[in-house]
Amino acid sequence: AKERGRNRAEIFDASLLFNTTKRAQMDVALRFALERNELKLVYQPKVSIINGAVKGFELLLRWNNPQYGAISPTEFIPVAESSGLVVPIGLWVLEEACKQLCAWQADYPEMKHITLAVNVSMRQLLQSSFLDDVTGILERTGVSPGLIELELTETSAMANPMQTIENLSRLKKLGLRLALDDFGTGYSSLAYLQKLPIDVLKIDKAFVQGLDKNPGDAEIVRLILALAQTLNLDTVAEGVETRGDMMKLKKMGCYLAQGFAFSPPVNADMAGEMLRDAQHY
Ligand code: C2E
Ligand code: CA
Ligand code: CA
Ligand code: CA
Repeated sequence: AKERGRNRAEIFDASLLFNTTKRAQMDVALRFALERNELKLVYQPKVSIINGAVKGFELLLRWNNPQYGAISPTEFIPVAESSGLVVPIGLWVLEEACKQLCAWQADYPEMKHITLAVNVSMRQLLQSSFLDDVTGILERTGVSPGLIELELTETSAMANPMQTIENLSRLKKLGLRLALDDFGTGYSSLAYLQKLPIDVLKIDKAFVQGLDKNPGDAEIVRLILALAQTLNLDTVAEGVETRGDMMKLKKMGCYLAQGFAFSPPVNADMAGEMLRDAQHY
């Protein structure tokens, strides 16, 4: 009977096999994506809810493949994480961020305080050469480390607590800013948070969307803001889609936001235009 059960399981696994094949194909295509210039970056502004000023941008990957079309990072990042491709891709993103920051600093000298945030996978953070690679990029580009923010998800930081504290501490010593992404979904303890050398909590969009209409979400956001104040951390709300959510955040004391209510992620030229306009505030 046991044997039969196993066979049955194998039949049902046909879809899994299909998925595995699809992932393998995607992984092969992704290997060529970098050299074939199929990967692009878009920039989403982080905006002050108080006066609408652009404080910085988060860089988000886009992949347009001739065969598969546009593929979401929520689909290809997990593939790149399991194959390890996320390591070179992530370094490319960081280097692009630094180069773009230099270009904008030259074009818009009054916007010298602009920060750029890049997403970092645990797989990158655990790479023994990561610290040297980051140092190399900062040195080559001459970017001030305090203007670069690395975003790591709370969930991935929880997977390997001690290792994460150690690796983040080394990055912090370089002078980089560190943010805990998707915050509120990862069950960090207060004790652990206190040990993490982070600067920013990024409130997950699940609690931000519909904030003004959902008392449960508002309570969670209020708690996160109190926690951030206790630990002396900055906060950013992500996924701010409506004016209602924006006003609610302001009332609760969260002053930095990112989301469609301000702007979707845009290409570098459009992001540059935002800086040009902001320069004349
Ligand atoms: P994330 O870091 O949480 O990025 C925010 C996601 O929310 C982005 O999706 C962004 O386009 C989207 N978003 C922005 N504003 C709004 C809004 O008002 N409403 C809603 N519903 N969504 C909004 P995207 O670009 O598809 O990226 C998805 C995820 O892929 C990112 O989540 C991040 O975890 C990962 N990712 C993207 N680029 C990179 C990268 O360079 N490296 C790594 N490791 N991961 C990346
Ligand atoms: Ca992020
Ligand atoms: Ca996020
Ligand atoms: Ca919600």
